[in-house]
Amino acid sequence: MISMPASAPRTERFPGPAPTTAERAVGAYLGLAIGDALGATVEFMTPTEIAVAHRRQGGRHTEIVGGGWLRLRAGQVTDDTTMALALGEAILGAEGRIEAEACAKAFDGWMRSRPVDIGNTVRRGILHFRNTGAVHVPPSQDAGNGAAMRCLPVALALAGAPRGRLDEAALLQARVTHHNPLADAVVCVLVRMVSELICGAPASCLLDLASEVAAEHPQLRFRGRPCSNPSGYVVDTFRAVMQGVVDTDDFESCLVDVVNRGGDADTTGAIAGMLAGACYGLEAIPRRWIDALDAQVREACCSQALRLLAYAPVEDLADCRH
Ligand code: MG
Ligand code: MG
Repeated sequence: MISMPASAPRTERFPGPAPTTAERAVGAYLGLAIGDALGATVEFMTPTEIAVAHRRQGGRHTEIVGGGWLRLRAGQVTDDTTMALALGEAILGAEGRIEAEACAKAFDGWMRSRPVDIGNTVRRGILHFRNTGAVHVPPSQDAGNGAAMRCLPVALALAGAPRGRLDEAALLQARVTHHNPLADAVVCVLVRMVSELICGAPASCLLDLASEVAAEHPQLRFRGRPCSNPSGYVVDTFRAVMQGVVDTDDFESCLVDVVNRGGDADTTGAIAGMLAGACYGLEAIPRRWIDALDAQVREACCSQALRLLAYAPVEDLADCRH
């Protein structure tokens, strides 16, 4: 089992040994939940509104305190994390396989549990399954970020698998609710990114994979004008996340950068936290953020990360384990 860091947080570039595969996996899942909980406080605010509201804290939102438009308890997470946990349980129930029907049933059960929030495209997709039994929605113009925000369990269960297998599994879960070329491309590249990072690839793999996806979908080029106040459009989400991840070199700076862009801050925070956690590992996550997270969510994330990782292709992981 992996243990929580007992020492004070290290927010500078982590100077110790490279994180293990398990530390990267747990870091990714805690990073997702922490980014969600941190960002939810400022979801739908503009950067200027955030700066004014946090003027006594230097104009930056940096603590997990709850509140926001959902009036969350401190440490409470939203649909980004709870949908990922539902998907992860479906994968574990299928002994590590990603099966569309199991995913759809898990999302249906999640919606029946009265989640604190739910996106319109996600709701439509789940109702489509409930009413027709179809596990995938038809192609649409809707390129929202709801399938991207929950993709982590797929990357953990298949870490190190060949690209074709990763893409196929990523889309099996995504198309329960989303079916659009841009939404598909972002889900697939995020799963590839996490898979490579979990296997110990350097942070530069993020640039390589982002360049590949942008060659096919130029809208996803993230360099250039800073992406401020990102909407739920997956292009905005991807650009804001990549700018934050690439322009910082530690977990805390990355999340503070991304959530202070405002807009869909819980989702950009969740995805950035997933990537930064996989990149820097558990030990790089500030202890105060781990402690602030809802205890049940924290335990579920740690437990699920390791159980999903146990299904990852062992022969590939053995080659790239650090
Ligand atoms: Mg949310
Ligand atoms: Mg959101």
